[in-house]
Amino acid sequence: MPTSSRDDGRHPSPTAVSTAGLRKSYGGKTVLDGIDLHIPAGSVFALLGPNGAGKTTAVKILSTLVAADGGQARVAGHDLAGDPQAVRAAIGVTGQFSAVDGLITGEENMLLMADLHHLSRHGGRRVAADLLERFGLAEAAKKPASTYSGGMKRRLDIAMTLVGNPRIIFLDEPTTGLDPRSRHNMWRIVRELVSEGVTVFLTTQYLQEADELADRIAVLNDGRIAAEGTAEELKRIVPGGHVRLRFTDPVAYRSAASALHEASPDEESLALRIPGDGSQRELRALLDRLDAAGVEADELTVHTTDLDDVFLALTAGADVPDHPEETVR
Ligand code: ADP
Repeated sequence: MPTSSRDDGRHPSPTAVSTAGLRKSYGGKTVLDGIDLHIPAGSVFALLGPNGAGKTTAVKILSTLVAADGGQARVAGHDLAGDPQAVRAAIGVTGQFSAVDGLITGEENMLLMADLHHLSRHGGRRVAADLLERFGLAEAAKKPASTYSGGMKRRLDIAMTLVGNPRIIFLDEPTTGLDPRSRHNMWRIVRELVSEGVTVFLTTQYLQEADELADRIAVLNDGRIAAEGTAEELKRIVPGGHVRLRFTDPVAYRSAASALHEASPDEESLALRIPGDGSQRELRALLDRLDAAGVEADELTVHTTDLDDVFLALTAGADVPDHPEETVR
């Protein structure tokens, strides 16, 4: 079958990854139950989901490590089932199945990758040295990788992946278990890669990570994409913004409750929850109504919807949690 010029790898398609109805079961258990994705080239896509949702399975399928049971996928312009070899040549995978060998040095790990990619001896040394320098590993290059910290191992893993100059990188939970500094370091690396035109497909359990990095986020639950969009779009679909007023005096609490009829009462903690966006205008109006009723709250907190709310609402059908973010007074 003739292939179009866009499929030959020299002119990457503007779509990095697209899937339609992707399915996978293990035994009798359906893990992916029809996944549709569309990821533009040069963007960061985050796949979120609770443990066991099928994130790693999706990455394994899209990176040709396991076969799907059904559906179609194109990765880097190549049909996943029809031309897995071409897909493999265009992608890099790092994460839970790290390729780092702890018994040899960081530099030796890099040179091994250079060999695998058939780089010349000189070319391999140059690429290895450049990448080790770029990822802050030049000093540790001659030490066994087993002596590296978690953050250094992840950086080495990404550096090894980049030897093959992939256009799409799958990062499966790249910062799980890393300290905050290493996590920020990893985020910087991801941003740099994207600025060079690389597409990043990220799985993460950290909502803040998706919020920080991703152009688009999909929430995987029960084998399906429960929601997909930018972080802002996702936050809009789950109403959760509210103001919480807490009282110590039961009389004041009751006066406030009758003045603010739209509030949801919490008798036990003498608190009222008033839905809203927490804007200055809304707050002023709320305080005016309290003043008019002659009551003063002991504590006022503003809660804006965050990705935690979205995640909890979409993955468990759970109520929007009540955790104040910002104490105003
Ligand atoms: P996640 O990455 O979101 O935590 P996984 O993709 O690792 O989820 O796993 C999804 C489900 O598929 C889990 O219930 C897991 O036990 C199951 N699973 C994954 N790989 C296999 C396998 N090779 N054999 C059987 N079950 C598997």
